[in-house]
Amino acid sequence: MKIETKCLHAGYKPENGGPRVMPIVQSTTYVFDSTEHIGELFDMPTAHMYSRFSNPTVEVVEKKIAELEGGVAAMCTSSGQAASLLSILNLCHSGDSFIAASEIYGGTVNLFAYTLKKLGIECIFVNPEADEEEIMKAFKPNTKAVFGETLANPALTVLDIEKFARIAHANNVPLIIDNTFPTPILCRPIEHGADIVVHSTTKYMDGHALQVGGVIVDAGTFDWKCGKFPEFTEPDESYHGVVYADFAAPAAFITKARMQLMRDFGCYPAAHSAFLLNLGLETLHVRMKRYCENATKVAEFLSKSDKIEKVVYPGINADPVMYERAKKYLPDGCAGVVTFFIKGGKNAAVKFMDGLKLASNEVHVADIRTCVLHPASATHRQLTDEQLVAAGINPGLIRFSVGLENVEDIIADIDQSLKNL
Ligand SMILES: *Cc1c(COP(=O)(O)O)cnc(C)c1O
Repeated sequence: MKIETKCLHAGYKPENGGPRVMPIVQSTTYVFDSTEHIGELFDMPTAHMYSRFSNPTVEVVEKKIAELEGGVAAMCTSSGQAASLLSILNLCHSGDSFIAASEIYGGTVNLFAYTLKKLGIECIFVNPEADEEEIMKAFKPNTKAVFGETLANPALTVLDIEKFARIAHANNVPLIIDNTFPTPILCRPIEHGADIVVHSTTKYMDGHALQVGGVIVDAGTFDWKCGKFPEFTEPDESYHGVVYADFAAPAAFITKARMQLMRDFGCYPAAHSAFLLNLGLETLHVRMKRYCENATKVAEFLSKSDKIEKVVYPGINADPVMYERAKKYLPDGCAGVVTFFIKGGKNAAVKFMDGLKLASNEVHVADIRTCVLHPASATHRQLTDEQLVAAGINPGLIRFSVGLENVEDIIADIDQSLKNL
């Protein structure tokens, strides 16, 4: 199946006489014919047991997203933050470290720099534009993963995924990529060497601002027997001595994440949320194309305005390095988010935003409706000035999330607010 077809059909095939649409299985538990059968499930989880860590409706969405990304398995989570957290905790424990590109989502910076630190896990931030030897020097013997974002929110830098994959693999650790902004429609990081892909499905995948969610996808490619990951190659005492690298190959990562972490933390989405997410996924390919078209026109309009200092959108040739890199990793477009700086700094930015009539001022991004946010006073408020700079965020930066309205209406709204400055 081509990707458009997968959006509609992957993960669910109705049985003869079965419902056309994947049903919502609203049940916490599942019934079996014997004690022995349930006992066997605890040795070999071949069926759903309990909705804290698996559910038939959620499973359909997991299979669909795994196919869209070209992975072997996926696990949905109750938020994008939960997906990032579990992807790290599945590899690192107290006393370990991992490397992350400094240009990543502000919420992820909080999680990695502060909360994981309290758990004894060190995040070593690196400049993603540094050369390979420089980044190699950041590795320690206890470094267990490398993390980066395909198209950083909100800096909109495009990560050189293949460079990061080379660096991770030279050190025998997996590369985790947050692919939230491009979605698998515009970029499939596994094709460029990523081992694990995470998403906030809250953004384009859901698309309609209906529910918060996340997902982790396992490429099934990493060699867990390389010697660095005993939790994959030694028996899990909390699960009847299962050895994940043997028993669950090639989906060892997701199986371990589900059987240990989701079992214990229970940050699993409700069936109804997965049902809504599936509706978003069905039209994802149509929507992504239009976001790219609209955002390109908005970026071109903004770059011609004398009230704008700088426009960041890798789909236009404002920064030749990012433009070339986008052509390689995002050949079909760079999604719908455009960032820009207004002349006059923070005050002008706030005045511009308050003057918008169609675009709404809200803490969200990648919605079907145009929305706008000032990261320095909202999502990235808690970052220090140095962290703001490292994350590519200028105090006057505006994150403009272009929606699916007619682009002439979106541009007219921007134009009237700029004229009032
Ligand atoms: C929003 C976002 C997250 C966090 O996801 P939530 O669903 O809000 O928990 C992670 N990464 C990126 C790139 C995001 O945009």
